[in-house]
Amino acid sequence: MIAAVDIGGTKIAVGMVDEAGRVLGWAETPTEAERGYAASLEKISEMLREVSRGRAMRGIGIGSTGMLDPVTGAFGDADFLPGWEGRNPVEDLSRAFGVSAAIENDGDAGALAEAYWGAGKGKRRVVYVTVGTGIGGGVVLDGQLYRGVDMSHPEVGHHVMDASGPACTCGFRGCWEALAAGSAMESWYEESLPAREGGGAAATAEQICQLAREGNEHAKRAVEREGYYLGLGLGNLISLFVPEVIVLGGGMMQSAELYLAKIREVIRSGCRFVPAEKTEIRLASLGEHSNLIGAAMVWQHRFRSESR
Ligand SMILES: [Zn+2]
Repeated sequence: MIAAVDIGGTKIAVGMVDEAGRVLGWAETPTEAERGYAASLEKISEMLREVSRGRAMRGIGIGSTGMLDPVTGAFGDADFLPGWEGRNPVEDLSRAFGVSAAIENDGDAGALAEAYWGAGKGKRRVVYVTVGTGIGGGVVLDGQLYRGVDMSHPEVGHHVMDASGPACTCGFRGCWEALAAGSAMESWYEESLPAREGGGAAATAEQICQLAREGNEHAKRAVEREGYYLGLGLGNLISLFVPEVIVLGGGMMQSAELYLAKIREVIRSGCRFVPAEKTEIRLASLGEHSNLIGAAMVWQHRFRSESR
């Protein structure tokens, strides 16, 4: 059994995952990053002891939001985890439980899990994209995580599509994330319709999708726009990588049926110099515990050569 820890901006989950990627016990708690790293570490340890009871733990895999160093295990400058910079959950959990531990960005963790156990299984070139409040993901080539210099994690959500578009947290304007993440859809929905036409109303991405299904014209335009920008971004990834499969996950893909036709139409309208029709667009298949399964895969990928 591999212990899995998923550290997100709003919640931390832990679980025990077997070597086929099945979750056999789990627990979660609000992140409450402002209470400090030590309090969160204590809570994680307590939950791990609880869910691992009676089961031998071979190692600990961690997937986390924020900037981190996968080699040392230390957090970098973490927007979502203020005050956690320099703290090292790999060393701390490894010492506390007497087993090896490994950490990756949660986009990379999800990419590994989908490539080995999910919708990318059996494929040699897999790009994973998760669309939620932001856009993240990872690239797995021949079973190995693609990394940049200093083992850095590529940011698939931050390629510019419209240099005069909305400001992005990375410093540019009009990144894919700034145009197609759930929060971008919500901002557009709220801001793009004049008040005299009933505009200015806030709605969550989930509500907008539901309104679109019910025939609301403004919501349908928001969904159309979302599909357009998702298609453009995926088209860019296809032109850059020509993967065998792009796996789409994240909360926004709960409503994938609303976007998929538009996504495919946009991809078909471009990508002319690569065999784009050979890149399959698939939905992530690991379900509600995908982040925990990804965290377990982080350990397995790092320490078990037979998993490659
Ligand atoms: Zn950006």
